[in-house]
Amino acid sequence: MVSRVIPVDDFDLVIFGGTGDLARRKILPGLFRRFRSGQMPEGSRIIGAARGDLDRAAYQDTIRKAIEEFVPKGARSKEDVAGFLELLDFVKIDATGEGGWKELADMLRPGVVRAFYFSVAPSLFGALAERLHGHACAGPSCRIVVEKPFGRDLESAKALNKTLRDHFDESQIYRIDHYLGKETVQNLMAVRFGNVLFEPLWNAQFIDHVQITVAESVGVEGRGAYYDKSGAMRDMVQNHLMQLLCLTAMEPPSRFDPDAVRDEKLKVIRALDDLSPEDIVRGQYVSEKSGDNYLDVVDDPDSRTESFIAMKLSVSNWRWAGVPFYLRTGKRMKARQSEIAVVFKDAPHSIFGQEQGKHRNVLAIRLQPNEGMDLFVTIKEPGPGGMRLVDVPLDMTFADALGPDAEDVPDAYERLIMDVIRGNQTLFMRGDEVEAAWAWTDPLIEGWTERGEKPYTYDTGSSGPEEAAILMHSEGRRWRDITG
Ligand code: NAD
Repeated sequence: MVSRVIPVDDFDLVIFGGTGDLARRKILPGLFRRFRSGQMPEGSRIIGAARGDLDRAAYQDTIRKAIEEFVPKGARSKEDVAGFLELLDFVKIDATGEGGWKELADMLRPGVVRAFYFSVAPSLFGALAERLHGHACAGPSCRIVVEKPFGRDLESAKALNKTLRDHFDESQIYRIDHYLGKETVQNLMAVRFGNVLFEPLWNAQFIDHVQITVAESVGVEGRGAYYDKSGAMRDMVQNHLMQLLCLTAMEPPSRFDPDAVRDEKLKVIRALDDLSPEDIVRGQYVSEKSGDNYLDVVDDPDSRTESFIAMKLSVSNWRWAGVPFYLRTGKRMKARQSEIAVVFKDAPHSIFGQEQGKHRNVLAIRLQPNEGMDLFVTIKEPGPGGMRLVDVPLDMTFADALGPDAEDVPDAYERLIMDVIRGNQTLFMRGDEVEAAWAWTDPLIEGWTERGEKPYTYDTGSSGPEEAAILMHSEGRRWRDITG
């Protein structure tokens, strides 16, 4: 298959926090892969901006090490790495002071795309924005990229939006949710809106329920103090799972353009019903055997913050009336697995008898591992022995369908950064979406805090608390297995 990589325009990308964990683990290795694929033109420049006594050579060395650590050997050659490092520059800068700003202003070139990646704590966003303008680094065509967490409640998200909008137009602000950059998530839109097969069935008449799972096998160790202030609801549901829910439930946008798509997602959040306490199960992991307990890795031994949450949501509109959306996410679960599963209803009448008829179509959209989609369909088990039915997956895994090109499918960060350079905001959250998600989330958190609810416990390496299984079982449904 002929490569379809289309280079972006020349750009200057300034990464504030360019020596930080995110920059070294994700942003720069991702940019390296895009460079290697031919998508990043040689007329581009990446300027690391951070505290720390580095010069250009020392920064190049830092990033060479990061690439060696985070890009597999087979996916890099010495020449490629050397070519990429040539595009790097560094400026020592203080977001809250004046040091480094003149140097940065002098480095920026006119006539190329200009983007600033705020890979620093949100408390520095205001200071960065002010100085970017104060030193004439930011004009009306530049872009800024901001990372999660985007606030910790509605009030702080509004304040953050205001800080950014005081200096930049909404069309310049790219709020990253890396789940939206995943190939399968975009493929969900292609499958829904590029085929006639699915959309006619995509409603309460044919869909029984939807399950969205983001299971992590890692715990919170190392980040315990930070995580305990947020918990699964703030850390995962308000942003990532909410975005997946929106893409699954939204109406077809009139065009595949940023505001048309984001308008439809916003309508989904606004159509979410309030939840009652019985619709939410929260948990904390424990392990008597290994002593791997959530409460031992956070500062507060009586913490009531959840490392797991499962919930049953309803989207109140004609399309989804009566169709539950079950969401669950947690740390230290059985395996690392993220998927959206759309479970269709039973056939209205089985000509094969009661038992044989109990087969359901499922469209499983896997985000990790092995991004891809399976459509489970019922067929006759091959061979003699009468009419026995089995469910088999129609595998829509990209690696198989696209051949060698699939290896070059950009990961989420790579794609999103290239979208910033192209000026395409479709896969970025708009300020009003983020606020609507917090407006829905806040009362739920306030509710369980006021009621003084303690999370249930669940075993490390399990699928979550028993009560989360009961949330489904009580309605005659069950969670799909977490197999990794
Ligand atoms: P980090 O602590 O590893 O790095 C922080 C960076 O900011 C460093 O380069 C440091 O020099 C720079 N910095 C700090 N204070 C500064 C100042 N006053 N002026 C100029 N530079 C300053 O942090 P990180 O893990 O890379 O995270 C960066 C941001 O990305 C945070 O907002 C974090 O919440 C978010 N984020 C990180 C991850 C991740 O996996 N690390 C994932 C999602 C979101």
